Amino acid sequence: MTTSPTTAPPEGLIDALLQARRIVVFTGAGMSAESGIATFRSADADTTQGLWAQFNPQELASPDGWRSNKQRVWAWYEGRRGAVLKTQPHAGHLAIAQLADTLHRVHGHAVQVDVVTQNVDNLHERAGSLQVTHLHGSLFAPRCVACARPGAFAPGEPDESLMHLEPPRCQHCGGHIRPGVVWFGEAMPQEPWRHAEDAVDACHAMLVIGTSGVVWPAAELPINAHRLGKFVAEINPTPSGLAQYLNLQWPSTAAAGLPALIEALKKRVA
Ligand SMILES: [Zn+2]
Repeated sequence: MTTSPTTAPPEGLIDALLQARRIVVFTGAGMSAESGIATFRSADADTTQGLWAQFNPQELASPDGWRSNKQRVWAWYEGRRGAVLKTQPHAGHLAIAQLADTLHRVHGHAVQVDVVTQNVDNLHERAGSLQVTHLHGSLFAPRCVACARPGAFAPGEPDESLMHLEPPRCQHCGGHIRPGVVWFGEAMPQEPWRHAEDAVDACHAMLVIGTSGVVWPAAELPINAHRLGKFVAEINPTPSGLAQYLNLQWPSTAAAGLPALIEALKKRVA
């Protein structure tokens, strides 16, 4: 995308990033939407096209749905994985991946950027981000239902047209391989959540990007950051409802705003 943000990057945001040695970038569905990816976790009816529209989210994205029809659920997720593989990270993903190096070049100090995402599409990794924590799992991290060890996809491209597909078996114990995303009725996995909390504790600044609303418990992260005295900025076309916890809100899309932010940082050579 080449559209410009409606306003220039705020000076307060540039100043805060230049002073930060650790930064948390917290991303939500809006980030993926700019790459043309719908909200897969919720399997929203309005984003479910064609044949899948007959199923409700519980049938496709819950432990009950899995128990009642593994082949349907596996086919659905393989279709989503196939769709994601046809998309590309946008300029906002790429800018986040460049943030640490950009700051390092500007002021000469090492900077760590931790990406914490609610998205399951791995576009941050594909853009080059090194530290990515997935609060809701990943379409690319299937695991065994029996022994929980990582599983492998069947070889070849996922076929988006299939509505019935046998899940692979675990190479260790023979159990079924399930999608690696967090379903309705499941708790968020503890390890990435703890990792995200630790990153918030250690950071100096947090960017909240593409979160369409206040979703619990994920909203705890920016709220905790605020309570700990961190600089918290939101970059969203429309405010998410976190206003009272923010140092500033910059109304911009990620794909337009973040590259402009990188350019603005580069101009601030000490
Ligand atoms: Zn197993």
